Amino acid sequence: MDPALSRLLRQLPAVDELLRHPRLAAALSALPRSLAVAVIRDRLGVQRQRFSTAPTGTLPPELDLDAFLAEMAQALEAAAQPSLRRVINATGVIIHTNLGRSPLAGLALEQILEVAAHYSNLEYDLVRGERGSRHDHLEGLLKELTGCEAALVVNNNAGAVLLALNSLAQGREVIISRGQLIEIGGSFRMPEIMAVSGALMKEVGTTNKTHLRDYENAITSETAALLKVHPSNFRVVGFTREVASPELVALARRYGLLALEDLGSGCLLDLSRYGLEREPTVQESLATGLDLVLFSGDKLLGGPQAGLALGSGEAVARLRQNPLTRALRPDKMTLAGLEATLRLYLEEPQAVAAVPTLRMLSRPLADLERQARSLTRVMKRRWGAKVRVAVRPSEARVGGGSLPGAVLPSRALALELPPLAPHELEARLRQTHPPIIARLEHGALLLDLRTIQPEEHAALLTALAEVLETLPAATGLSG
Ligand SMILES: *Cc1c(COP(=O)(O)O)cnc(C)c1O
Repeated sequence: MDPALSRLLRQLPAVDELLRHPRLAAALSALPRSLAVAVIRDRLGVQRQRFSTAPTGTLPPELDLDAFLAEMAQALEAAAQPSLRRVINATGVIIHTNLGRSPLAGLALEQILEVAAHYSNLEYDLVRGERGSRHDHLEGLLKELTGCEAALVVNNNAGAVLLALNSLAQGREVIISRGQLIEIGGSFRMPEIMAVSGALMKEVGTTNKTHLRDYENAITSETAALLKVHPSNFRVVGFTREVASPELVALARRYGLLALEDLGSGCLLDLSRYGLEREPTVQESLATGLDLVLFSGDKLLGGPQAGLALGSGEAVARLRQNPLTRALRPDKMTLAGLEATLRLYLEEPQAVAAVPTLRMLSRPLADLERQARSLTRVMKRRWGAKVRVAVRPSEARVGGGSLPGAVLPSRALALELPPLAPHELEARLRQTHPPIIARLEHGALLLDLRTIQPEEHAALLTALAEVLETLPAATGLSG
């Protein structure tokens, strides 16, 4: 062995020594011993590997113990943190699927805590003193809010679509427009869900145009349903045509078929009042006579992850009887959070004020501008020339496959922390406590105010201070 290599390997501290090292005491105190040992062994392995694979002549003469211990402390600290943790969403994408989609309303959180910390009547009928169904808790509220005859809540909308197709069309044909054979993030592809459900997909029309006669010509004695799917994350513009729900429903009636719609996001409010484009609400879709509409709980609704299936008593009853419903059932925390969220919708102004997703969508630009200026002032006062910050017009997005292409005017802070390049700053911000997820645009690092809650400003500033602490002290003039 290379003598330089063997000396370096000998200089690496032993596991026991590291477990007692004062430099690591703070980090070690937060970890169970067995986990600490595993992390230390792992880091030692990585370091040995680094030395043994270094090209000859590039090995340092001595082990840099300081750097080694700093790295070890960092690894131990990282191991003490939960893997799943909060972040600050500064991307400007409101329903960000990678960032957990919808933050919940305070009342929803309280109700989850209340139900999850105690026993509950999840499947117990308090009046009769006997077994009840978890599926009964939300149905009344959903009927009240949407005018549906019946409702079923499952784990997510992908599950609701699977359940609906399997319950209503297994072994039979479902007709769908080629313009609606979508794939959405996280590998939900309509043709594949259809195949798994056991329904036989019959595509009609073309990518850009599907007519009512296309559906009609495809109907056979094997057809069970006509399915409409919200394109969610893309839009076909120009020479296009899709069949509207009322026409589809009328056709289905004429042939004794079911008409189903996967709304994707599904919204209970008319968002055009808040400057967004008009989309049919869940209530309007149901009013067209569809047998079933399906949508997510954690997209525009702003509740927990869930899939809602609303429609006729007959169709929903068939879903309920399917054994798959047991496999897709929502847990008590979901039901508690969803019920509290839906209750807020009983009064629209209350929902807009209390459901974070709706609040972010409807925040006036003037508020964002004011908050941007105030944050800028604080940063300049605290850090002077170490931070370069400017308020910029920005375009926020709804995200989550809701209102594709819709842009919300916003304000962003364009931030520079010399000497970090924007992409380096972006990476550093992902490591702060809490991490800040920023946006890089045309080489600039932007923090979009539309998705940063006013209550998060203090945490944002603390996180920036963390990055600044690690930077070399500024020298000379800058500005
Ligand atoms: C988002 C979406 C789904 C999947 O919903 P999840 O709640 O994420 O499972 C299904 N269909 C459409 C059209 C969607 O937009």
